[in-house]
Amino acid sequence: MSSTHSESLFARAQQLIPGGVNSPVRAFRSVGGAPFFVKSARGATLTTADDRELIDFVCTWGPAIHGHNHPVIKAAIAEALENGTSFGTPNPYEVEMAELIVQFVPSIQKVRMCNSGTEATMSAIRLARGFTKRDKIIKFAGCYHGHSDSLLIKAGSGALTHGYPDSAGVPASFARETIVLPYNDRAALVEAFAANPEQIAGVIIEPYCGNLGFIMPDPGYLSHLREITAQHGTVLIFDEVMTGFRLARGGVQELESITPDLTTLGKIIGGGLPVGAFGGRADIMDYLAPLGPVYQAGTLSGNPLAMAAGIAALKLLDELNPYERLDQLGAQLRDAVLAAAKTKGLPVQVPQRGSMFSIFFTSQPVRDYETAIKGDIKLFARFFHACLERGVYLAPSAFEAGFLSTAHEGAAIDRACEVFTEVIGEL
Ligand SMILES: *Cc1c(COP(=O)(O)O)cnc(C)c1O
Repeated sequence: MSSTHSESLFARAQQLIPGGVNSPVRAFRSVGGAPFFVKSARGATLTTADDRELIDFVCTWGPAIHGHNHPVIKAAIAEALENGTSFGTPNPYEVEMAELIVQFVPSIQKVRMCNSGTEATMSAIRLARGFTKRDKIIKFAGCYHGHSDSLLIKAGSGALTHGYPDSAGVPASFARETIVLPYNDRAALVEAFAANPEQIAGVIIEPYCGNLGFIMPDPGYLSHLREITAQHGTVLIFDEVMTGFRLARGGVQELESITPDLTTLGKIIGGGLPVGAFGGRADIMDYLAPLGPVYQAGTLSGNPLAMAAGIAALKLLDELNPYERLDQLGAQLRDAVLAAAKTKGLPVQVPQRGSMFSIFFTSQPVRDYETAIKGDIKLFARFFHACLERGVYLAPSAFEAGFLSTAHEGAAIDRACEVFTEVIGEL
């Protein structure tokens, strides 16, 4: 077999980069095979190093809601680039970004920019602890909040995919401060608060979970969470790094009419460049240095190129208001999978909302970690590879959401529906 460009690049990468990848989610270990390299991307299409064109349902793991290489975002970056790449002083873009964020997400009264979702959640947790003067936090099994020590416990996404939901290297003494509860379980919440009176600084949740695959909360679950955290003086943190600006302009909190105390953002807010942000109640945010005692910083935070890209992405969302259209496209994909599976007599669950969806090969509704891991992973791997052979790229894991963008119009969705139908028929 002749060595393809992707194959030779991967061979070189594996010599020097652990596993050949700079983020484990990109590895194909759970589905088998080697990742392909991409040399360019436009709209809904990736072009691989071997000149294959793929319809992309990973969308750079969420950020690319306008598709790849959007001309308006590109122009905004080019314009910012003319003036320099980093100043180490405040710059005008940061102010415009903050104004946009508080306008889009009303629960955010003040906001701090950082460079990744991991930084945003790590800092929000520290802030909740500093503000409440308590140590313990609650997270939910299978939710992923980046890779800081407090949060890499029963984590989803790549940590789960590759079999390390509890990472080595996290001291047991740190892990003890993190209480892990099942998602969608009200009684477990009540018990945890009763067992740890006045000790719980914060609860962090993906309000719609996207890192176990896509999972929705039961009706009333999030409002119960809001009530119980308010009762106990615990900071409620909505991690909307994935869902923010994706499911609605104001995120899940807008859809569910819930006001968290803090919100973490990332992905879309960078327009394809590395950005994170956290914000919320002004009285909590004012605990941050230089006003308050909780320290948080970043040499490149509020970087002008990243701000320009993010501002352009957010303004485009405002202009296009694509959410209803994206939901129709998502529903079209879901219905195609459900219909094909029904014909075939194959048990499948396809949770979908807006531009997010998942395909779980299981007969039970998926509502938490335990039900998600019942999905048939081997069958998913066959499904994944058969789709890829036909030019449709899904995330290489049974525990990741699929994403649509405004560039996935007509032909891309129709083709994906055809491929899903054909592949399920042959499974
Ligand atoms: C992606 C993600 C993160 C981590 O963001 P990075 O930019 O990868 O550090 C945190 N929380 C959620 C919900 C995410 O989806």
